[in-house]
Order: sequence, then C-alpha cells, then structure tokens
Amino acid sequence: MEREEMIERFVKFFREYTEEEEPLYLGKIKDLLTVTPKRSVTINWMHLNSYDPELANEILEHPEEGIGAAEDAIQIILREEFLREDLPRIHARFHNLPETLLVKDIGAEHINKLIQVEGVITRVTEIKPFVSKAVFVCKDCGNEMVVTQRPYEGFTVIKKCEVCGSKNVTLDVDKSSFVNFQMFRIQDRPETLKGGQMPRFIDGILLDDIVDTAMPGDRVLVTGILRVVQERREKTPVFRKILEVNHIEPVSREIEELEITPEDEQKIRELAKRKDIVEAIVDSIAPAIYGYREVKKGIALALFGGVPRTLPDGTRLRGDIHVLLVGDPGVAKSQILRYVSNLAPRAIYTSGKSSSAAGLTAAAVRDEFTGGWVLEAGALVLADGGYALIDELDKMSDRDRSVIHEALEQQTISISKAGITATLNARTTVIAAANPKHGRFNRMKPLFEQIDLPPTLLSRFDLIFVLVDEPDEKLDSEIARHILRVRRGESEVVTPKISHELLRKYIAYAKKNVHPVISEEAMEEIEKYYVRMRRSAKKGSENEGIRPIPITARQLEALIRLSEAHARMRLSPIVTREDAREAIKLMEYTLRQIATD
Ligand code: ADP
Ligand code: MG
Repeated sequence: MEREEMIERFVKFFREYTEEEEPLYLGKIKDLLTVTPKRSVTINWMHLNSYDPELANEILEHPEEGIGAAEDAIQIILREEFLREDLPRIHARFHNLPETLLVKDIGAEHINKLIQVEGVITRVTEIKPFVSKAVFVCKDCGNEMVVTQRPYEGFTVIKKCEVCGSKNVTLDVDKSSFVNFQMFRIQDRPETLKGGQMPRFIDGILLDDIVDTAMPGDRVLVTGILRVVQERREKTPVFRKILEVNHIEPVSREIEELEITPEDEQKIRELAKRKDIVEAIVDSIAPAIYGYREVKKGIALALFGGVPRTLPDGTRLRGDIHVLLVGDPGVAKSQILRYVSNLAPRAIYTSGKSSSAAGLTAAAVRDEFTGGWVLEAGALVLADGGYALIDELDKMSDRDRSVIHEALEQQTISISKAGITATLNARTTVIAAANPKHGRFNRMKPLFEQIDLPPTLLSRFDLIFVLVDEPDEKLDSEIARHILRVRRGESEVVTPKISHELLRKYIAYAKKNVHPVISEEAMEEIEKYYVRMRRSAKKGSENEGIRPIPITARQLEALIRLSEAHARMRLSPIVTREDAREAIKLMEYTLRQIATD
C-alpha cells in the first residue's frame, strides 16, 4: 500500500471509529491538547482490524511505514480539526496484536515485522540522551546536513560537506534533537518454560515517553519491530536481534494466572473435603523420594504460605514461609528441590553458585552494548510472587550475602550504585539447601558452626531441617527397595496421589481465595507454646549450653504463618486449634533436630 493511501485511511479511521457512539481516537487526539501533555496515542490493533483489516495487516507486515503513516495522520487531524500546528510529532503506539509470542518463539520470519512479546524484564540500563536527528554543519560554507539516526544501529556521521566537499564538518548539538533512550532485557517468564529449559532473552529499546516505565522483575507485554543488527566487535558477522519497542504495558493478572475453570474449582472444592487432604498433598510431593515426611510437610506449608499483612504504620509482614534443608551430601536435597520446582506455580530453580552477574538478588553491572550501567535482576526478583528453589545456598557470592537478609524479611532488594538507585520487589518464598562445611554433619555440634551461613540469615528461615546420613539398617533397606522400585518404573511408587496439574491449581486457588483468620483457640495454643519455649531457653542458657537459634519473636511469627498455611491447605477460612498444633509439632521437630543437647 502506498504511503499516501495509508495516511488517508488512518485519517478516516481516527475520525470515524466510535465506541459507544463516541469517536474514540478523535477524543484521544484532542486529549493531547489538554493540560497534561502526552506524546503518544495508543491504538488498539483489534479496533483497527475491525474497521480496516487491510490497513491493520499493513501495520504488522510493514510497521515502519505503517506507524509513520499513522503518525502523519495524527498531525493532519491536529491541524485540520483542532487548528494546531505547533505540537511536536506524536507517536502512534499499537497494542493488543492478534498473536503473543514467547521470547523463545521469535525467529527469522519476524524480522522487520511488528510483533507482540510477553516476558519478564531482567535488566534495564540507565536513561541516556539519544540523537534522533543529528545536524552536521560545514564550518567552511555553512551548509547544514540532517541525518536521522536509528537507535539500534551505530551513529551515522557525515565527514564531508555535500556542497563544497570540505572535511571541516561538525555535529551541531544545539540544532540536533535528542530523546530519552533506554535499553532493557526481557526473557520468558519462568512458568512458561518446561523443567530445565534455559530461558531465552532479547534486548529492547525504549525511546522518548516510554523510558523508565518498567523495572527488573516486572512482567510485561511489549509490541515492537524486530530488528537484526550486526555486532561490530566481531570479525565474523554475528547478528543479534533487537526489539525496537512501540508499546509496553504490564501483563494483566488474568493473562498471568493459571486458568482455573469452574470445573477445576469444583474438583478443588471436592478435594478439600477429603479428611486426609493434608496427608494427600504431602504424599504428592516428590513421591520418588522415600521418607522425609516432615520435610515434605514443611515444603507443602511453604507452597501454600501464610497471609501477608500491612500494619497501620505501613510495615509489611511477610506471609511467605522460607524453608532450609541442611545436610550431608547424597541425602536427596537437590532432588527434592528440583521436584518442587516442577510442581510449584511460578518457580525458579537456581544454585547459590549461579553464574549470572545478578546472582540470587540483583546487581548494577556494566553493559557491554551501551557501555553504561545496567540494573540486573537475580532469581529472587524474577520469582517475585512465586518460589525460588535455591540449591547450595552456602556457595552464594559475597554480594548476595550482604543483601539476602533484606530480601528474605522485607522482601525487597535495594541497589544503590553508580547513579542507579532502585528498590526491587522480591516477594518470593525461598526453599533452599546447604551442605555442611566439613564433609559431614555432626549432630553434637551447633548448626551455625557447621554451615557457611551466618546465624542472622538462618534466623530468617521459618523451618530448618537437618538431614543426616546415618547408617540405619531398616531405613537403608527401605530406601534401597524404594529406589529400586522407582528405577524399575513401578509407576504406583512415583505417581503422586494428586496429579501435579490439579495440585498446582489447588495451590494457586488457595493462595488467591483463602485468607485464613486465626481463631481465639489457635492463638491461645501458640502463646502457650511460645512462653514455654522462652522459659526453657532461659534455663538452657543458665546451664551454659547456648542454643544455636534461641526462640525469639521470629519463631512466633513463623508459627502464625505455618498455622495459616495449614488452614489454607484445607481451604479453611479459619485457623483452628488443630492447625496451630500441627504447626507447633513441625517446629518442635525442627528445633529438636538442631538442639545442642
Ligand atoms: P544431595 O543434593 O543431598 O547431595 P541428591 O539430591 O543429589 O543429594 O541425591 C543423591 C541421590 O540419592 C539421588 O539420586 C537421590 O534420588 C538418591 N536418594 C537419596 N536419598 C533418597 C531417598 N530417601 N529416596 C530416594 N532416593 C534417594
Ligand atoms: Mg546436591
């Protein structure tokens, strides 16, 4: 389609498209003239498609010309309808395209097309000025030469005057135009990847009014033109894909959440009525791993979580339950974590030794492309609102060590470095594993002497399980039998009582819809236990045997969360005495394991 025709058809669309008898886009263009200045008009592609499908198709196939034509049309309307000539060029931004791609689906067939991609932002660069229109002036004859620059290509320089041939040409900064420029990286959301798949990423460019609209960890839907550029540093031509972003918006909750149909809901409600529902859930976690009832129960509670609260003074109390498994090599810690990462909705499996610059938390690092600083999100930020399964926590970097306390308790990560200051959300449940410092675990010695993690960090975990590999004839033969049956493919051994698909939905449903309130009796139960433990801790310290982790208000909060999670597992709106007792029993179990006596 000729450009002139496209402009005409856009003018018609803007003038005539109505919603509830109001001219929607004429209204939007008129709004540009009101007090709050805007520099974009957003256009729902579906609207255009219903009005002029041919033109809508042009936007997808030839976006550079199409978007330019839409912007010209906006200028015409501003001039004709509203008699304004003095406004800067307005961007036409398209959203709601017919197809949404994952980053891993972007291919050669999309080059120079307008595409819509969904993912999570992992890093953003600083905002810098970009010369959109460079004006070069010849110092000898005064000739001015204008070069429109493309943000995804290198800077195009004019070295020789087109009129007199002089080489005395310089960039005139005052006459050139600049816009804000920012790059970001987007990768597939963890829940869209099948177990073990490496997430792919793509870099995008934001210009002008859409810079600074997203932070690492945000889940977004972007539309943009896919460009390929040759990487200049390489000798052999290597290309990389860059998305020249046209529109960016946060992903709406509906798209993100697991779809739970009314039939699913009925199944979930039915399941919750089972008397043995808690046992059935626990049994469905890592059935290939023998035993470890308590560990599995702790993990089940973490999957459901307690209820987060915001106090009147604005303090936020987390609802997330953090669980740590410490123990000898070969006791199935890694296996359990991997298994849970496949089961939990929105989970990331990673290691403390993670090779990414951002590690577990976040970092400001140098960007090889722009040379500036970028803010990059680590696992805890990327799993915001979900679960981080962290193996070998004790191997984490010193930088992670210094900020992970904040991440586990306040559930934010603050970065302040090289002009970048930001606070990222990390409302993430952490289920982690750590190995003992010296080969094997010794029950007689305090926990903190044996693992390379500070006691202050250990105290952030609601439950710490110690898994010791002690020879035990009866248990050993049972484990051996179990492993052999699993290896032989005896399916009833490894089939979970509740299918993963249903359990995942059950968890998502419970977290969204059930917010249990603590009953008077449950409160009484927790209080009684807490006071008793404090008393015995005091006695213990008088006898010089210092508890590795003294009972503090932190454990009290943990008990509340665990009780809430237990009620949630049953989809109960009330935390009963029984829920509190179960929580206490489990905490008792973990404390007994790590007691020094
Ligand atoms: P860790 O991370 O604790 O060092 P792994 O998760 O790598 O241990 O487990 C080592 C192996 O032992 C795995 O193949 C695991 O399946 C097996 N294993 C250990 N304990 C059990 C158990 N209780 N039930 C089933 N398999 C087990
Ligand atoms: Mg391991």
